[in-house]
Amino acid sequence: MCGVAAAPWADEVYVLLEGLQHRGQESAGIAWVENGEIKFVGGMGLVKDAIKEVPHKGPAIGHVRYSTSGGYSRVQPIHNRRLALAFNGNIINFKLMEPDASWDAEALLMRIVRELNKGHELAEAVRRTLAEAKGSYSFLLLEASGKVVVARDPWGFRPLAYSWPVAASETAALEDIGLSWKEMEPNKLVLLEEGVPTKEMEIGEEKRKAYCAFEYVYFQRPESYFNGVNVHVSRVRMGEKLAREKPADADVVIPVPDSGRSAAIGYSRASGITLDEGLVKNRYLGRSFIMPPGLREVIAMRKYGVVRDVVYNKRVVVVDDSIVRGTTMKRIVELLKEKGAKEVHVRVASPPIRAPCYMGIDFPSKDELIAVGRSEEELARLWGADSVGYLSVRGLKEAIGLSELCVACFTGTYPFSIKREEVELMLGSHKG
Ligand code: SF4
Repeated sequence: MCGVAAAPWADEVYVLLEGLQHRGQESAGIAWVENGEIKFVGGMGLVKDAIKEVPHKGPAIGHVRYSTSGGYSRVQPIHNRRLALAFNGNIINFKLMEPDASWDAEALLMRIVRELNKGHELAEAVRRTLAEAKGSYSFLLLEASGKVVVARDPWGFRPLAYSWPVAASETAALEDIGLSWKEMEPNKLVLLEEGVPTKEMEIGEEKRKAYCAFEYVYFQRPESYFNGVNVHVSRVRMGEKLAREKPADADVVIPVPDSGRSAAIGYSRASGITLDEGLVKNRYLGRSFIMPPGLREVIAMRKYGVVRDVVYNKRVVVVDDSIVRGTTMKRIVELLKEKGAKEVHVRVASPPIRAPCYMGIDFPSKDELIAVGRSEEELARLWGADSVGYLSVRGLKEAIGLSELCVACFTGTYPFSIKREEVELMLGSHKG
């Protein structure tokens, strides 16, 4: 899972990437056109660390990346002298498309070059390549001529919004720089020449949409809109549904900051239990889910402080948006009890994560997913909580309010068939 941005100037892309930093903290890069050539700056870490200086040149595209197992050193945009490519997603069949490619971004670039060499013009070369790609992609390509291609996959897994000639993964990043926006439609490809859209194409056959439900649950900024639905509002509704599905007799509702906050508002509203801030986050430690292994446990230990007066001698409902490994939640329950909470009821505003995602979100292997093979009662014992309650898949869908969603990581049912061969080849390599 990553973030992408395109703009007439490289320094504008830098600002957009800062607004997308939450989508990836492992590496960042910007490619731009200067004197008819592609230039690049990028490296590991946050935008401010990876990109020390960027000129007022362009057009440009950029990328922030979140960690995936086995490939911490990759940086996008991947580029050569003529082309630069950045995408957010994962191409499941990339090894079948380009057997010599070591990761999906490389496979896409190789295939586009191949199509160009066959004589296809830029937009058609990209369209042919993407029509073969199975998976998720919010996609940007920059040519040294200054042309830019923007595309979103036919299923619409990942977000992409625009205010031509600017595009970014999330609407909030466009609002950061004062732009009104539209969302890119799935299965669309747009060619920009000198910043003006000159061609619009369908990538391939129309597909049933499969908007990633996890974008609503966790990834996007609360201000963002995804498929017309505001992320914060959908999270509040998740919390309201959760309160009805999994009530608790309690004195106070506290969120796990920051991503549990909207759902906690909903839980409090629907249950009538007072909302308060009982956990205080150390803002400078980063998001543990998107940290490399090893660092995660250390961060979970130091991530939160507790406001004793809010929880002392109280029955506390602690609301989180989702739980992947459970490392952080175990520590939170310990902390709350240490500070005198009489009871701790864990409520999770999404269903248990029980299956891998092949569409660009790198959940750990099944053995590391804490909800696999465990009931809510078992999880409560494991975390030392008085009860645990998750939102149902139905409740999640109703909260988002869209019928065409991907919920595969909760149900194990994928929006398309995935061959064992594709998975084995993909997992032997690296995601984009
Ligand atoms: S499997 Fe889960 S994380 Fe992956 S695209 Fe589907 S909903 Fe999103």
